[in-house]
Amino acid sequence: MADIVLRKVSKMFGDGTAVVRDVDLEIADGEFVILVGPSGCGKSTTLNMVAGLDDITSGDLLIGGERVNERAPRERDIAMVFQSYALYPHLTVAENIAFPLRLARLDKPSVAARVAEVAALLELESLLDRRPANLSGGQRQRVAMGRAIVRRPRAFLMDEPLSNLDAKLRVQMRAVVSRLQRRLGTTTVYVTHDQVEAMTLGDRVVVMRSGAVQQVAAPRELYERPVNLFVAGFIGSPAMNFLPGMAEEGRVRCPLGDLPMSAPLARDWDAAGRPARVVVGLRPEHFEDSRLVDDTARAPGAKFEAEAEMVESLGSDTYVHVGVEGDRVESAELAELNAEIGGAALDSNRNRLVTRLGGQSAARVG
Ligand code: ATP
Repeated sequence: MADIVLRKVSKMFGDGTAVVRDVDLEIADGEFVILVGPSGCGKSTTLNMVAGLDDITSGDLLIGGERVNERAPRERDIAMVFQSYALYPHLTVAENIAFPLRLARLDKPSVAARVAEVAALLELESLLDRRPANLSGGQRQRVAMGRAIVRRPRAFLMDEPLSNLDAKLRVQMRAVVSRLQRRLGTTTVYVTHDQVEAMTLGDRVVVMRSGAVQQVAAPRELYERPVNLFVAGFIGSPAMNFLPGMAEEGRVRCPLGDLPMSAPLARDWDAAGRPARVVVGLRPEHFEDSRLVDDTARAPGAKFEAEAEMVESLGSDTYVHVGVEGDRVESAELAELNAEIGGAALDSNRNRLVTRLGGQSAARVG
């Protein structure tokens, strides 16, 4: 087992542009950390540098307290699981799992014992004599994981291991990965572009964008206290709404009405003194249909009327899209900023909505 530390780690490919920039990250022994972000943000490259599959251009990588920048992948004692299962087609499940142990010249009885142990852990006992061609995608991925854990490496690195599976299997395999990691207690770094996977699997989540770390936090904290608009917009589905606002004494004006100012924003605003332009971030679930709730029992919010433009019913939830004075804010136009986010969901499928905003403000612009 080992902790993994990245200090100012950067990666440049041929043309000199940095695809990973100054990544600082401390992953504790036994921790399950997720790297998440949009396509091309540098997640896989970061993971490959930890694995030793990509050279580190600058910075230090420490595993178990030792600098390992120059160590070959096999000398780092870590195991990798990829999206493609990369099983040997001519070998049985048992032989595939045993392969790394054979390479390490472990004696036969020990190999058999370890394979049995891993097969039990991953519920593969009944499949040990099959070949990969006769397995489902989920079973193949379990064999690939079995092959990774059988060596008892110091850490697991997983690059989108579930993205080849259909939605239902993915959910099942998420539970398998989570249970396995907790049982084994092995340091794990897991790359995904799926924020639901990130939020459900990780002890901590690293949100990346354009090669740089945006925020490192526990899932709940990311959701409730995103440090900038990118994280606020990336984490959460359906995504957070952004509206332009103006912070003034004790309140924030926005197209929905006046909202009470949150404490962190109030502190910020006091320092500035003057009214300040802000971006108001509202989670969909913080909107309520005022005809359906008891007004008197509520914290103060803003009430507004809006036209439902589209209604999406998912069974358990109904998403109602409303237009607010035709005013939609493109997040690309907004400066990066520290955000303290309140939020607001509409759960009515009636066409005319009178809606109360339960959450509060906002973020400072510029
Ligand atoms: P995805 O989710 O699409 O896999 P990612 O976040 O894992 O994306 P990386 O695969 O790490 O992103 O790629 C980061 C950037 O580095 C991309 O712009 C990619 O085009 C670039 N890149 C990756 N490998 C190379 C390479 N060998 N040579 C040049 N550029 C590369």
